[in-house]
Amino acid sequence: MKTDILGVSIDDLTLEEAIEAGAALLETAEFHYVVTPNPEFILSAKKDENFRAVLNQAELALPDGIGVVYAAKILGRPLKGRAPGVDFAQGLMTRMSHTGQSLFLLGAKPGVAELAAQNLRKAHPGLLICGTHDGYFKEDAPVIEAIQAARADVVFVCLGAPKQELWMAKNGPLTGAKLAVGLGGCLDVFAGNVQRAPERWQRAGLEWLYRLIKEPSRIGRMSKLPLILVDALGARLGGK
Ligand code: UDP
Repeated sequence: MKTDILGVSIDDLTLEEAIEAGAALLETAEFHYVVTPNPEFILSAKKDENFRAVLNQAELALPDGIGVVYAAKILGRPLKGRAPGVDFAQGLMTRMSHTGQSLFLLGAKPGVAELAAQNLRKAHPGLLICGTHDGYFKEDAPVIEAIQAARADVVFVCLGAPKQELWMAKNGPLTGAKLAVGLGGCLDVFAGNVQRAPERWQRAGLEWLYRLIKEPSRIGRMSKLPLILVDALGARLGGK
């Protein structure tokens, strides 16, 4: 079931349910894409109608940030919890390592996807990573051809938002893959270039704070995030 959070439809699923739903999409004949909205997505979708439409057309939209969960609570439509894209990706890869379905990694700076592939093959024995491509390309056609030639079932698209969502919606059906997942900076995490917060911080809903401490240059980007809570409060008080 989808819940409207300030104009963006979010699936109210636990992480396990989300992984189950993602795996089920791989069994269908058509192409689908998954988005992982955090507060930044919702704030930019407010101003960008096209981005909003692309988010709302996704088969699955997972609440990636604690801010989305708080906004839902303020709106009076609480979600079951957070389903971070990086954990969804790990769960899907665990399943794929048993089913033999193949994965293509698209995005990040040159060399990062290759390093991520090496680490992921070690972490998920049996996982078939059939190709990689960096995220700094000028033309779509050679990238689409590379994914087609690799016969990928799933593509992790890590180009940052909204680029990755627009890319998946426009080009995903041409790749021959069954599923594309927009995963932001996940390849940097899988490559070991960026550390995730320790689990205690994650459980406390403080992953954003850990990231800010590690990458203080994100302060400008992150300073707008409380606005989503202000928007949610305004919508609640306004009876929306
Ligand atoms: N990126 C890319 N192509 C671009 C712009 C960005 O591949 O044209 C990559 C960038 O190298 C990084 C990821 O997209 O690996 C986006 O990271 P960001 O921190 O913005 O994502 P978040 O984790 O916040 O979703």
